[in-house]
Amino acid sequence: MDVRNCKKCGKLFNFTGEPLCPACAKELEAKFFDVRTYIYDNPKASMSTVAEEMDVPIQQIKKWVRQERLAFTKDSGISIECENCGRAILTGRYCSECKKKMTNQFSSMYQEKEQQHASGIKASSKGKMRFLGE
Ligand SMILES: [Zn+2]
Ligand SMILES: [Zn+2]
Repeated sequence: MDVRNCKKCGKLFNFTGEPLCPACAKELEAKFFDVRTYIYDNPKASMSTVAEEMDVPIQQIKKWVRQERLAFTKDSGISIECENCGRAILTGRYCSECKKKMTNQFSSMYQEKEQQHASGIKASSKGKMRFLGE
C-alpha cells in the first residue's frame, strides 16, 4: 500500500493518484463548486479577484480551466495560453487551431498505418504466387 502525506494538511493517507487526502480532496471539490458559482455570478471578475475572494490559488483555478471544468466567458477578459502555440484560449489546453492540427496528425498517422498494412498483404500474396508457380 502506498501511504503518503497530504500536500495540504500533511496527514498520512492511502495514495490513489491524488496528492490530497480524502478530506482535503472533498474540501477542494466543494471549493470548486463555490468558485464556479462565483464566476457564474460575477462573469467579469478577473482571475486574481476570484482567487482572492474565494481564497483559492490562481494555479488551482488554472488547473480547473485546463481540465475544462471551469470556463470563463469572453466578457471576463480572462484567458489562459494554448499549451502548444501560446494563443489565448478560454478553456482546455489547446486552441481550436492546434486541436484541429492534432486531430489531422492523428488521422494521417492512422491512414499511413492502414496503407502499410494493405501493402503488406499485397507483398505476401505476391510471395505466395511465386511459391505456387515453382
Ligand atoms: Zn489533507
Ligand atoms: Zn494553439
